[in-house]
Amino acid sequence: MEYRQLGNTGIMAGVIGMGSEGLVNKNSEEICRLVSCALENGINYFDMYNSDPQLHRNFGAALGSERKNIFIEGHLCTAWENDQYLRTRDFDLTKRSFENMMRNIGTDYIDVGMLHCVDGQEDFCKVFDGPIYKYARELKKSGVIKHIGVSSHNPVTAKMAAELGDIEVVLFSVNPCYDMVPPSENLEDLWADESYEKALHNIDPVREEFYLTCAANGIGITVMKAFGGGDLLDEKLSPFGVRLSTAQCLHYALTRPAVATVIGGFHKTEEICEAMRYFETPENERDYAPVLSHLEKHSFSERCIYCGHCAPCPVKIDVASVNKYLNLALAQGFVPETVAMHYSLLEHHASECLKCGSCDRNCPFGVHAMKQISLAKETFGY
Ligand code: SF4
Ligand code: SF4
Repeated sequence: MEYRQLGNTGIMAGVIGMGSEGLVNKNSEEICRLVSCALENGINYFDMYNSDPQLHRNFGAALGSERKNIFIEGHLCTAWENDQYLRTRDFDLTKRSFENMMRNIGTDYIDVGMLHCVDGQEDFCKVFDGPIYKYARELKKSGVIKHIGVSSHNPVTAKMAAELGDIEVVLFSVNPCYDMVPPSENLEDLWADESYEKALHNIDPVREEFYLTCAANGIGITVMKAFGGGDLLDEKLSPFGVRLSTAQCLHYALTRPAVATVIGGFHKTEEICEAMRYFETPENERDYAPVLSHLEKHSFSERCIYCGHCAPCPVKIDVASVNKYLNLALAQGFVPETVAMHYSLLEHHASECLKCGSCDRNCPFGVHAMKQISLAKETFGY
C-alpha cells in the first residue's frame, strides 16, 4: 500500500480505501472476511455511507482493536427506514442516525463527518444554511468528528463546498468518462447513454476548476465511482466503447489533483486482491493515455491531463507535476503559497529545461508541453 496526505487533515490514507457497498446483505462472517482482507492489505481508510445498523455492528466487530489504526468517513444525512437506506435532510433523523452509527460501530469518534450527497444548489443551501451544518460544526468542536467533509457528484456544489473554508474533504465521483460530462444536478446524467451521444472534448472546465480549487485550498479528495460502477471495465458498457483496466482506472483517479484515496466497493476478497495488483503493475500498463488518446467519438487534446506519458525528460523534470502546479497558479490568477511550496519541492524545475522537445513528441494529447514548461519558468521564476 502507498499512503498519501488527505489534504491538510493530517490523515495519511492508503491510496486504495474501502467503501460499504460490498458489505451490503452480507453476514458477520463474510463482513469479517472482507474487512480482515482489507486490513491485511494495508487499507486504513473506510467510507461508511450505508446506514444499515446490522452492517455497522458487523463492521465494528470486524475492526476489533484496529479501530484506532484506521480512519472512518461516516456520513451525516443517511438513515435506515423500513429496512432501507434513506438520504435525508431531516435534522432529528440525521442526528439520531449518526449517533446510532457510532454506537453500532462501537466508536466514540468519526474521522471525517461527511455531509451526504449535496448535488443541487437548493439542497446546498438547505444543508449549509440549516441546522445540519451547524450540528456538524458542533460535532467537530467537541471532537466527535475530526474533520468535516461533503460528498457530491456535481462539481458546482462540490466547488462551492470547497470554498467555504472549513470543509476539509470532498468525496467525489472521478473517472475519465464522468470528467467529460458538463455539470448537472441530476447525477444520473453521469451514466445516461444520452450524455455521451454527442462528441465530448477534454475534461469539463468546471470539473477541472473543482480539482484545482481543492488542491489550492488543501482539501483532500476521496474518490467514488472510479470504475463507473464497473462500466468502464467492460467495453460493451463503457461510454467510451473501449474498456479500461482496473489499474488504469485507479491510476486515472490517483493522478487527479488533490486526490488521496480511491474508495473501492469490494464485494469479494478477490476484488481487493485485484485492486492491490495496482502496486505491482508496471507504469506502461497503468498508463491510461493510449486508451484515452484513441477514442473514436470523444477526445482529449491540447490540455494536460497529468498522465505522465511525456516522460522521460533528459533532465528529469516531472512535466505532469509542473503542469499541474502551473494550472493551479493560472486558475487562481496568482501563485498561492502552498502551490509555490509544492513546486519548490520538485527535484527539477522548469529552468533546467533543455528545450529538447521530447515531451512534446511523447505527449499523445498534442499538449505543447515545452511551451507550458517555459510558462512555468516565467510563472514560478525558476
Ligand atoms: S503533457 Fe501530455 S503526456 Fe505529459 S502529462 Fe500532460 S497530457 Fe500527459
Ligand atoms: S523540452 Fe524540457 S521538459 Fe521537455 S523533455 Fe526536453 S528538457 Fe524535459
